[in-house]
Amino acid sequence: MTMLATDLSDNTNRWGMPPAAARAIAEQAGQSMRYPEAYADTLKRAIGGYTGAPPEAVVTGCGSDDVLDAAVRACGDPGDRLATCDPSFVMVPQFARLNGLTPIPVSLTSSGDIDVTALLRTQARIIYVCSPNNPTGTVTSCARVAALAESTSATVIVDEAYAEFARESLLDLALTRPNVVVVRTMSKAFGLAGLRVGYAVANPGLAREIETVRGPYKVNALALAAATAALEEDLGWMRTHASLVRDLRTRFAAALCERGLTPLPSAANFVFVPLASADRIAVAMRAVDAVAVRAFTGLCRFNEELAASDGAALRITIGPWDELERALVALDRARIACA
Ligand SMILES: *Cc1c(COP(=O)(O)O)cnc(C)c1O
Repeated sequence: MTMLATDLSDNTNRWGMPPAAARAIAEQAGQSMRYPEAYADTLKRAIGGYTGAPPEAVVTGCGSDDVLDAAVRACGDPGDRLATCDPSFVMVPQFARLNGLTPIPVSLTSSGDIDVTALLRTQARIIYVCSPNNPTGTVTSCARVAALAESTSATVIVDEAYAEFARESLLDLALTRPNVVVVRTMSKAFGLAGLRVGYAVANPGLAREIETVRGPYKVNALALAAATAALEEDLGWMRTHASLVRDLRTRFAAALCERGLTPLPSAANFVFVPLASADRIAVAMRAVDAVAVRAFTGLCRFNEELAASDGAALRITIGPWDELERALVALDRARIACA
């Protein structure tokens, strides 16, 4: 694997990992001949302490990808439909197909919010909502998700991978509505993407069903130790960096606007910029300045900017300002080269 000078392509934590997690891994390493807890009970209690959810409402997994896959299997049957917003997290249609369900994309509204009526019209058994949404960074209004959950017997999966960078969370809805599952991860704000730890909060019956279709021992001992330490000892580290991300995000978006670009309002640790020829620009940024950003093409044109860019856009992770400055220099050069 070649190491890139500046990798702003995958929304992982550019400040590293919580020191308490690194220490916990070192302490735990010598115990690797032993099996971990089958259902990560210690971690569930730590997640309970962080989120306010009772441990029996929590299910953990090998990354939130594992939890999403298991939730799809637990809540749908082969042949059912799974409605997703478009554009949204690319893995979800794959999890639908892997489990024999048919993904049905439903365009976001022009403001980047969810279209409740259109989602309900799909007659889907599972409705997936990502807020803040990857790749757009936009938030879904809590009122709309609550209205959606109330008007359907479908399971509503709310992916909050970026909740720590946003103002609001729908966690309470998962604790009060039987058909809502909120999925979270330790991969972004908590800086532990390589360890693969995710979790969901749902009513205890549904949480157990998700756990049952998935099976035991999915969170390994080092990941368990690191995630528990991060949650119990290093929330300050996480919050300091999440707050820094919010400030840098504002500053970076302003720099993009000064260049005549139109980034969408972001509540996540990345900024989404509709931009024609985004794929060629990303290749040039990488080749000339060793800056990696994520390019999208052929996206659903849910607003005017995406219609103007022919459905192309860049998604740029928020890192320390020197990295964002390098990205701006690389972007300026690449736009001239690709004009
Ligand atoms: C990054 C991301 C995840 C996290 O996946 P993990 O498997 O926990 O690393 C989940 N959902 C979305 C929308 C993401 O962007």
